[in-house]
Amino acid sequence: MQNAQPTSSHFINGAYVEDAEGAPIECIYPATGKVIATLHEATPAIIDQALSAAHAGQKIWAAMTGTERGRILRRAADIIRDRNCELSILETLDTGKPLQETLVADATSGADALEYFGGLAATLTGEHIQLGQDWVYTIREPLGVCVGIGAWNYPTQIACWKGAPALACGNSMVFKPSETTPLCALKVAEILHEAGLPAGVYNVVQGRGAVGASLVTDPRVAKVSLTGSVPTGRKVYAAAAERMKHVTMELGGKSPLIVFEDADIDNAVSGAILGNFYSSGQVCSNGTRVFVQKDIKAAFLKRLKERLQGAVMGDPLDEATNFGPMVSADQMNIVLGYINKGTDEGATLVAGGKMAERDGFFIEPTVFADVTDDMTIAREEIFGPVMAVFDFDTEEEVMARANDTEFGLAAGVFTNDLTRAHRVVAGFEAGTCYINTYNLAPVEAPFGGSKASGVGRENSKEAINHYTEVKTVYVAMTPVEAQF
Ligand code: NAD
Repeated sequence: MQNAQPTSSHFINGAYVEDAEGAPIECIYPATGKVIATLHEATPAIIDQALSAAHAGQKIWAAMTGTERGRILRRAADIIRDRNCELSILETLDTGKPLQETLVADATSGADALEYFGGLAATLTGEHIQLGQDWVYTIREPLGVCVGIGAWNYPTQIACWKGAPALACGNSMVFKPSETTPLCALKVAEILHEAGLPAGVYNVVQGRGAVGASLVTDPRVAKVSLTGSVPTGRKVYAAAAERMKHVTMELGGKSPLIVFEDADIDNAVSGAILGNFYSSGQVCSNGTRVFVQKDIKAAFLKRLKERLQGAVMGDPLDEATNFGPMVSADQMNIVLGYINKGTDEGATLVAGGKMAERDGFFIEPTVFADVTDDMTIAREEIFGPVMAVFDFDTEEEVMARANDTEFGLAAGVFTNDLTRAHRVVAGFEAGTCYINTYNLAPVEAPFGGSKASGVGRENSKEAINHYTEVKTVYVAMTPVEAQF
């Protein structure tokens, strides 16, 4: 049996901390359904301790130069890369995602963020604005204590994507992982401190929604960055707005992926597989509404069915496995409920559709065809391995249908017509668009959603604007001219 019990539940002020008074959180390995660690929710005393440490730590951290801060973040990136194997195994235990994925996508992407923002830390400056003899200069200042709240699909990556830009800008952070995947963020905190981070600058507290809610409303907190569902985003954004706090909201999606008849079908099928079945479909930006132009529908579905034979479901710790379980029994049941709705509402089940006959929370890669825009599986985020394929005739028609959703996280197009590709992405109502590929999210590129899918952007230089504010200083070179 696996055992992933961490030293203790929380990481505060540079050290592991426990408070057994907190309600237990059982961490379940999704491939077996067995408990692999038991942690405790943060009590009010733990929350207070974390926020006080972050408040004090931030002052010390912000007083350091950008070069010094950047060096520590880059050192942490190196440690993460050195321990990639161990961290990837932990990510697999926390989430159930296959080691084949976690070895290349999780700790490595966290290290990329620490390296990238570590590199930027020394370059953050204000500007000089000459106004005749007078002049203005601006100071780019950190916001203060930032709260990060994570979803369960990418626990290491989310802890780093929030922590790296926040810290590069001179903020401190209290990070609350999802209660479903509490393990990985503790390692991120431990490694940051091993790299030389002053105590209190990056803290991790465990807990369910109520712990998140009390962090959001605390007056010591200047900013909240959430990765989660739209309903949670609405609550957190509203609570933050009450006290006029800064927010970044990385929320859910129901993204369109359009395949035109001139596309390279194999490449488009690869995009659809990557955009629906990576991490067993538990990816926010997934292109779950696949619109295929009518003339190539049969060829597309035939090739897709052939390619699905390549899915290897099995022990996620076996590197030959490329398709893992749902993160939890709850998520498995939600996804199975959507699959039943798809069948009941008249979509054609082309592949999959059931639980796998094995331990753990496995669902077969599932494809529905003949999906219509009003069906539940066409409108709601499923967050599992369920692809919905729609037919379309014209570009104009498909653009209107692709944008007819409250979400706006991502969108993709497969076509070999250059001008059409750019026309289509210009028309997409989405934060992140892809031409002839899908779901890539390098740290150098902004990532985030429009409409209900979010506010603000993570990664790239854009993130700096969301973790700093600008102070304007007007300097007069002549006496004041008052009106009387
Ligand atoms: P969730 O919304 O249920 O929970 C997200 C986090 O919010 C958890 O840590 C949870 O404890 C916390 N939370 C819940 N209620 C809260 C409250 N009232 N105040 C403060 N915190 C609260 O989401 P989930 O089920 O963990 O994750 C899946 C969702 O996340 C999907 O909708 C997915 O699309 C989205 N997601 C988005 C991105 C992105 O970058 N856009 C990335 C990954 C996942």
